[in-house]
Amino acid sequence: SNSLNIREVTYTGEHSSREKDYSSPAIVRDASKCILCGRCVGACGTVQTVGAIGFAKRGFDTVISTAFGRPLAESTCVNCGQCIMACPVGALTEHENIRDVWDAIADPDQYVVVQTAPAVRVALGEEFGLPVGTRTTGKMAAALRRLGFNKVFDTVFGADLTIMEEGTELLSRLSSGQNLPLMTSCCPGWVKFMEHNFPDMLDNLSTCKSPHEMEGAMVKSYFAGKLGIDPQKITVVSIMPCTAKKFEGAREELSNKDMQDVDWVLTTRELAAMIKEAGIDFVNLKDEEFDNPLGVGSGAGTIFGATGGVSEAALRTVFELVSGQPLDTIEYTAVRGMDGIKENTVELPDGRTIRTAVVHGLGNARRLMEAMQRGEKSYDFMEVMACAGGCITGGGQPILNAADSS
Ligand code: SF4
Repeated sequence: SNSLNIREVTYTGEHSSREKDYSSPAIVRDASKCILCGRCVGACGTVQTVGAIGFAKRGFDTVISTAFGRPLAESTCVNCGQCIMACPVGALTEHENIRDVWDAIADPDQYVVVQTAPAVRVALGEEFGLPVGTRTTGKMAAALRRLGFNKVFDTVFGADLTIMEEGTELLSRLSSGQNLPLMTSCCPGWVKFMEHNFPDMLDNLSTCKSPHEMEGAMVKSYFAGKLGIDPQKITVVSIMPCTAKKFEGAREELSNKDMQDVDWVLTTRELAAMIKEAGIDFVNLKDEEFDNPLGVGSGAGTIFGATGGVSEAALRTVFELVSGQPLDTIEYTAVRGMDGIKENTVELPDGRTIRTAVVHGLGNARRLMEAMQRGEKSYDFMEVMACAGGCITGGGQPILNAADSS
């Protein structure tokens, strides 16, 4: 149990012969705990249309498994973690990295930098009995310092960089007319979904790294130079609402000179477990500020955690780059007959228009992609988040029971 901080219990009675599946860097499956309720199958197959896990056999020997019983890492899993949120018995969990982070903090040769995503601060309090939605930014920064991190950064800075880069990329694609619509690449669940399901449209994805990857890369270049620290001696830890970010952090492409931009990703749940393990009285901590040696976040990046946030921030950037004027309001309208999909059109001062779609939930994304392939829809810019509602409901967030959410 995470709340009791017990990770390993030696049990001498009868053991299940089923091995845990540790193949994925994001999600662990423990089939011996599975009660065959099928909620993960519904979340993965019906809602997300990923179909990485399903029922096998369907007789008395029914099991929940990937196709051909292959390890999860060899399936079409996109690591969104919605199966974890659906599982009532803990047979699916994140691939825990708490021990790795404790080891880095304890290593005197390592300078350990932590960054936290916007959606973590509004959910962390739930693990400590605070009302749902309580903002715990100041307490979280204080707790991270007490855990022993050398610097505590806000991923909002990386989000601001992503917005500038993505806005500029959109302008250049609008000018060339190539690889439109530009599709956001900040959700690693969506990127992997594209790789499995729409490989002929990978060039439409933005070439920008996601915010925490940009920030990690910058910490190991600009920040390392500024402090005169060998980047090999810096460990970057990201606290994310997301299990897919663990997979993203381990991707070979997101590294430089054999160094990953981000070394470890912990979920909101894992951070709460560390705080409890350290015996920190989280609720009574005095608020502290983030460290801020890299500049000040614009605030636009804060809305990254909610669906529609990325596109709004990028459109504002494009509008200002073209006109030198701020953009007033952006009105989105729901697409008829398609839940979870909104669209809008922004007119630039030079007469060009940008048609945008905002989609959350992979089932909705698949429906929109198929409508585009049939020629029924076309856009210049698409923001896609794998989780319904965006990162706020990510697969690494606190799991509420019915009493908590009432
Ligand atoms: Fe992760 Fe957010 Fe994408 Fe969900 S929507 S997979 S939490 S980045």
